[in-house]
Amino acid sequence: MTLQRREFMQASGATVGALTIGELDKIKRIDEHEETDDAERWDIETDYAVAGASLGGCISALITAENGLDVVLLEKGPETGGTALSSAGGLYIIGDGPYDLEHMQEIAPDVDNDLGEALANNFTETIEYLQERDFPVEPLPWRDPDYDVSIGASYEERREFFDHFENEFEGHGGEVYTDTPAKSLVLDTDGTPVGILAENRETGELLSVGASDILLAVGGFQAEPGMKVQYMGRDADNVAHRSAPTVTGDGLRMALAAGGRHSRSMGRFFGHPAPWPPLPPQYDIDEHYEEDLDLVWAQHSLGFFTSDTVMLNHHGNRFVDESRGSDIINQEIAEQPQGYAFSVLDAELSEEIDDIETIDEQGGNVWEGESLDELVNEVDGLAARAVHTIEQFNTAIEEDDDTLLTIPRESERHPITDPPFTAVQFTAGVAQTHGGVDIDTSGRVLDCSGSPIQNLYAIPGTAGGVTRFTYVGSLCQLAVFGRLAAEHVVDSAS
Ligand SMILES: Cc1cc2nc3c(=O)[nH]c(=O)nc-3n(C[C@H](O)[C@H](O)[C@H](O)COP(=O)(O)OP(=O)(O)OC[C@H]3O[C@@H](n4cnc5c(N)ncnc54)[C@H](O)[C@@H]3O)c2cc1C
Repeated sequence: MTLQRREFMQASGATVGALTIGELDKIKRIDEHEETDDAERWDIETDYAVAGASLGGCISALITAENGLDVVLLEKGPETGGTALSSAGGLYIIGDGPYDLEHMQEIAPDVDNDLGEALANNFTETIEYLQERDFPVEPLPWRDPDYDVSIGASYEERREFFDHFENEFEGHGGEVYTDTPAKSLVLDTDGTPVGILAENRETGELLSVGASDILLAVGGFQAEPGMKVQYMGRDADNVAHRSAPTVTGDGLRMALAAGGRHSRSMGRFFGHPAPWPPLPPQYDIDEHYEEDLDLVWAQHSLGFFTSDTVMLNHHGNRFVDESRGSDIINQEIAEQPQGYAFSVLDAELSEEIDDIETIDEQGGNVWEGESLDELVNEVDGLAARAVHTIEQFNTAIEEDDDTLLTIPRESERHPITDPPFTAVQFTAGVAQTHGGVDIDTSGRVLDCSGSPIQNLYAIPGTAGGVTRFTYVGSLCQLAVFGRLAAEHVVDSAS
């Protein structure tokens, strides 16, 4: 029986992973219904193949194209931009500039010194690069307007940024293929990556791209339930993605299949608590891509207020010092039983928070009770012990006796005493994964011995390890490492 192309791809592990040159040739023959060995191996041959039209993928593609390299950009979704399109558009490093290693260590004691220094030292030049090419970037008033910029405050402005990229890139001979996910790396007989096998989602046709160098800029694994369980917590398949629905760990799988090693911090990520029930994983991109991005935007900040409240897990226990911030609470939620937690407030707190009404209107779970007993009784999935935990918390705060707390509470020390009481259910929301494949300061993917894998590059969120759990800014990491990878590719080619 002759294998169909899809069956062969699945059998050979080629649906997101790596395949050998020999397997590619076999797929091509099946695809072209040819019995002979002389099918053309590559549909396209190029100097630099970039998978993922994220901010970093786009910058990397443009720099290499400007330097005379032949560049192909493959994007799984219907447009360039990825999650940056539904972000707040802030291209910044946390804290005030100028930025250097000392600054990075101050804002993030868990920073990797090499990657952190590369990020800080190359940030301003990366912004200057965009300004010199007339990208529509403006000073960022809510960070440090002397150093940080916005790539657009609205979807339309951010779209303009990426349209400008496309014009510049195509003006330098670059080619963008949307709706064309990279499925597998193609490895030479000695294991060196020499190409990408991609698939046109509309026609089902394969596109084999032979490339001297390859960049994986396809984001992390926040929209892939299985990988969230693997790395973040046993119930983390319930955790929501705060990203394009296309960010499903394809880059990490491909890099590992080519011999790449994991970075540190695989279970850590950036985001904020997301209302429960979470956005379901969207496997049908065509149907859900825009709707999903709209919801990601609408729900992004709804969990900010949790740092003022008492957070309880399913068993009715506190599990984090809430005053450390909603991004820290968020990472802890992923490890709680069933992947959710409850934010409990009294009237004094809840009166100031409009977001609770918004969560209610959007179908999130919100309960109210005149007493703590009544509230806890109402809430589905919260153990009765919650009443005892809150009362003990109140006593500790009122008597300023922290020995009563198993988990401290550094600041925002409000007792929960003023009825009516409110509980809001949250899961975690992941905008960017902190862990991924390990890279060096040029974005080269490292193998298990720490040596660079020839021809293969990755940038955060496909790559990880810049920090362990502290947020230093996301778009800055993509932009800088996209540029550093491009510069290394250009230098190696010349
Ligand atoms: C509401 C909101 C506001 C935010 N505001 C800010 C902010 O102001 N500043 C900031 O720094 N960060 C912000 N962030 C975070 C930031 O936007 C994300 O962390 C960042 O965009 C994630 O980048 P990424 O490369 O990991 O993924 P993405 O930007 O999503 O890029 C990955 C791209 O690769 C594509 N892709 C996936 N698989 C494949 C494949 N197999 N082949 C080809 N292409 C593939 C995807 O479709 C996507 O286009 C915000 C996030 C949200 C949700």
